[in-house]
Amino acid sequence: MLSPLSSADWAAEARTLVLSTGAIIDGVVGAPVSGAPLERVSPRDGSALPAVPAATEADVDTAVAGARAAFRSGVWSGLAPRERGTTLIRLAELIERDARRLALTISVEMGKPAQDAHDVEIRAIATTLRWYGELADKLDDQAPQVGPDAVALVTREPAGVVAAITPWNFPLTMTGWKIAPALVAGNSVVLKPAEATSSVVLALGELALEAGIPAGVLQVLPGQGQVIGQALGRHADVDVLAFTGSGRVGRLLQGYAAESNGKRVWPELGGHSASVVLADADADKAGATVGWAAFYNQGEMCSAARRLIVHRDVAEQVIAAAVRTAGEMAPADPFDAGSRFGALISIAARDQIAAAVDEAVAAGATVLAGGRTVEPVAGGAYYEPTILTNVPAGTTLFDTEVFGPVLTVTVVDSDEEAIALANNSVYGLAASLWTRDLSAAHRLSRALDAGTVWVNCYEEGTLSMPFGGRRDSGFGADKSAHAVEKYTDLKSTWIAL
Ligand code: ADP
Repeated sequence: MLSPLSSADWAAEARTLVLSTGAIIDGVVGAPVSGAPLERVSPRDGSALPAVPAATEADVDTAVAGARAAFRSGVWSGLAPRERGTTLIRLAELIERDARRLALTISVEMGKPAQDAHDVEIRAIATTLRWYGELADKLDDQAPQVGPDAVALVTREPAGVVAAITPWNFPLTMTGWKIAPALVAGNSVVLKPAEATSSVVLALGELALEAGIPAGVLQVLPGQGQVIGQALGRHADVDVLAFTGSGRVGRLLQGYAAESNGKRVWPELGGHSASVVLADADADKAGATVGWAAFYNQGEMCSAARRLIVHRDVAEQVIAAAVRTAGEMAPADPFDAGSRFGALISIAARDQIAAAVDEAVAAGATVLAGGRTVEPVAGGAYYEPTILTNVPAGTTLFDTEVFGPVLTVTVVDSDEEAIALANNSVYGLAASLWTRDLSAAHRLSRALDAGTVWVNCYEEGTLSMPFGGRRDSGFGADKSAHAVEKYTDLKSTWIAL
């Protein structure tokens, strides 16, 4: 399994790291594509990364046609489920074999600490592939009782060609959540990674071939969202579109689907998650955990704790604990094995976050922690974990999801006020609730309008539990056996006897 690494290990790994750049079409790694290459820099230090050849609409047509041909051939869709499962489990093993290279690629491309990428992302995608691999031969169809004159079957069939458009913040975890249930059901998948994290997803595609996923079954196409993401969204021969990303693009994809073949779109979008701390809560634990959940992954996490809503009786203690956590998560070189907080995705993103904080301060907010641009590695995109209070309604930070390390605090005087404030959002992805009162835990977790509620914890869960949102956070949860349903169609068969 995964072993602990030192900063020297990461430095040695960095000296020999080669980033994957070639598109994967019909089993060919480095398949020719005809778009202008994606020019990229590492947010760790601003250094140039190898350009990635980008696909065009014509390349999308080729990849979708190949995926359809593979699907029709039965080379994957026609296997016994157990065989598909075994292949996914083999892919999990290869990912663990190459854990260091993959983790460092993530760190170089999007800035998170290499050790975090190693311990969390590698483990997450390997666990996901194993979980669905093991599920493969445990899925049942139904035979309703219809009397002596017929046999009735309700079966699930793979939808066909699934397009998956994935984000850069958890490039392997989110990709695993899409491709594992889609592949285990027997679909072919055309995968379009976020531009920033193309290399790690291309590396995953190479390992998929090595694991024995047949040519054409997992196509990986790097390229621009508005070009090939759009082309996949509009493609008449794509049956299902799975997406994690911004609300803006989620809605565009629903529009593309409506304007083309009416394909299913499963959008997993943003969040503005509230953490409600009641007067009887373990204040130190609540503050420290919510702080961690606000700043983990540089706050670039759709389920991050963005809004701390705390009862006045414990506010001082909870805020003090959160501020301590912010201090412990100071930005550091992502290659440092002890780093708990790395670089943001880009200088432009950093500047947007800084602007939102400055706007809130100008409108009367108070900075309790952070609030500054820093440079632990010269040329990199770093911003301190930041906590603000008295953030007025009508500011960007109060009203919208700012995708970075900023936590706002509001002090309240009653549970009712806390829940009303928590639910006062267009988003409905996640929430946390802190109390020692069992009855309040049940009652108020029901009252919180979110797809996931964590009580006295944050970011806990297993693959058995769905993860998804409501309202502007999207719909169609990832994870769990439910996710397989998203990539299958029901068939009713009536056999007269
Ligand atoms: P973020 O703002 O966090 O980068 P996006 O929603 O822009 O999130 O990106 C998520 C994914 O959507 C990426 O793979 C990106 O390339 C893709 N994407 C961006 N614009 C479009 C578009 N117009 N159509 C389809 N996909 C897109």
